[in-house]
Amino acid sequence: MTLLNETHDARLRSWVASANAAGCDFPLQNLPFAVFRRRGASEAFRGGVAIGDQILDLAAVAASGVLQGPAAAAAQAGAQDKLNALMALGQGAWSALRLALSRALREGSALQAPLQACLVPQPQAEYDVPARIGDYTDFYTSVHHATNIGKQFRPDNPLLPNYKWVPIGYHGRASSIVVSGQSFHRPQGQTLPPGAQAPVVGPCKRLDIELELGIFVGEGNALGQPVPIAQAEQHVFGICLLNDWSARDIQGWEYQPLGPFLSKNFATTVSPWVVTLEALAPYRVAFTRPEGDPAPLPYLDSDANRERGAFDIQLQVGLRTPAMAAAGQADATLCRTSYRHAYWTVAQMLTHHTINGCNLQPGDLLGSGTLSGPTLDQAGALIELTSGGKNPVQLPGGEQRVFLEDGDTVVLRGWCEKPGAARVGFGECWGTVLPAL
Ligand code: MN
Repeated sequence: MTLLNETHDARLRSWVASANAAGCDFPLQNLPFAVFRRRGASEAFRGGVAIGDQILDLAAVAASGVLQGPAAAAAQAGAQDKLNALMALGQGAWSALRLALSRALREGSALQAPLQACLVPQPQAEYDVPARIGDYTDFYTSVHHATNIGKQFRPDNPLLPNYKWVPIGYHGRASSIVVSGQSFHRPQGQTLPPGAQAPVVGPCKRLDIELELGIFVGEGNALGQPVPIAQAEQHVFGICLLNDWSARDIQGWEYQPLGPFLSKNFATTVSPWVVTLEALAPYRVAFTRPEGDPAPLPYLDSDANRERGAFDIQLQVGLRTPAMAAAGQADATLCRTSYRHAYWTVAQMLTHHTINGCNLQPGDLLGSGTLSGPTLDQAGALIELTSGGKNPVQLPGGEQRVFLEDGDTVVLRGWCEKPGAARVGFGECWGTVLPAL
């Protein structure tokens, strides 16, 4: 578990003036990673680090030769078109690069002149999925989401008895993971209309969102070698925003007995920016269980996990309808919550995933599952916010929604904030629903 160091000092200021502005997602204390290029350019994608409203181009930094030792090697690995090579280098390399960039981007740094030439303005950039994702696993770590959904699919038996003992997950699909800003067509599929004897095929009628975080695996583990919980976070590169778009009518018909299939794998949107666990160190909080719930089994328990296993990441979902967009209105907030309410931690997810010897590889992605908080206004999916479509969400201008309509844009945002620490933001993760083909 990464400890606080000089890079977290809230007083640090950057010679990139926009990084010092109040409310900025990307101050000097954050330094998240993405892959990017100038929009519309024929140049290659390469790794970059956000600072204020700029991107520090890691390929240009590596070519400039201004960094030394492990930091230089890490920048060189980050110069590729995906971050897998940087992810594979491990915690020591990421930390060395973070320290070197923190010092180089500070006010008064002697490296200001050479690094100034390595900046690309964020408004001129386009992004790609940050890693070549070999495998994607989606967990189910919000007990509030699991209970709310369970009530709708199984009113007599909402929370299955294994939930409080085993971190539930399923293997998802990596090929349809896209980066923020991409649109997708409303999926077609097989559903069983209410009261019908036989299913029909057609466009999804209950298209939903899932507010999640994505966890990128850094250094992998060998096949057959479980990762103990004490070492789990050393295998995590960082965290991004993730929208696991879901077709609820398709899901309801197909999900038994093996779980979701085509209701989930038509599109999954991730934010371009990946925030490292080191950047999140000031926002670690205790992992607790409600009174009377079983303690995690020993392999999922440690002092460090109990004391600081959770993350207090603020999360928000916004919706903008075509009418709102035409009127020039900003998105309306559907929910606000925090990652601190999750029932299982990042370390527990990773440890459980490898208990059987399953090998994780650099660039693999774990989804947290829908991160609903304890009250309904903190629910991270429309199926919960509308009680299964019964209570529409009211929007500014008199519009309503039960599920997503064609042309709707959904935006996820995440950030950490508290007195005495610098704000650490995740930027945005957005996508727009196009009509079915
Ligand atoms: Mn999900």
